[in-house]
Amino acid sequence: MARVLVVEDDRDIAESLELFLRHDGHHTKRAHDGRRALELEHATQPDLVLLDLGLPELDGLEVLKAIRARSDLPVIVVTARREEVDELIGLGLGADDYVTKPFAPRTLLARVKAVLRRGAHAAPVTEATTIGPLVVDRYRVEARVDDEPIALTPTEFALLAALADAPGKAMRREELIERAMPDSDALERTVDGHLKNLRRKLGDHGVEHLLETVRGSGYRLRAPRP
Ligand code: CA
Repeated sequence: MARVLVVEDDRDIAESLELFLRHDGHHTKRAHDGRRALELEHATQPDLVLLDLGLPELDGLEVLKAIRARSDLPVIVVTARREEVDELIGLGLGADDYVTKPFAPRTLLARVKAVLRRGAHAAPVTEATTIGPLVVDRYRVEARVDDEPIALTPTEFALLAALADAPGKAMRREELIERAMPDSDALERTVDGHLKNLRRKLGDHGVEHLLETVRGSGYRLRAPRP
């Protein structure tokens, strides 16, 4: 059960989206343009935003940028063109998932569920992994460098936590998707996009070198010195 903000200017699509989500037990609010979307996001603090890209007033990209400037709220972008997904990943704006139109309601609901679960405070597995100055705290769903929290999206955190499960071990992209983004039919290059953002954020805290790209094998977090 979550509060979902549906941002969609096509009233028929918006209405059916709300219907599906409500049928699945979620609460919904709806915005028909970008400006209203930001007002509602600010006022109602939803758990998730379903964001159409082609919007009047302020387009979806601007809305996503504005949301990301102030929060790590999960955002699923709804696009009309598959190629747009590549462009978006390239821009590194940090959407949590992408759905292309037309979509089957079941697919969409599965994505919603998957993204929400990534952000949910699940039962703690192992509480925290420390890698040099970096702490990956699964209990608090938070990563910190020298005790300072890093602002990560739920997907970025899930990927970091998956890598932190086995410091020093290179993980292939498929493995990362499997562990961090199950139920998503995320493409391998989506992982690259998320990890690019993750590395930039680690870099803002001076520890980008902890996340290594392993040619031909994927990614790994440097193992702590014994
Ligand atoms: Ca539209």
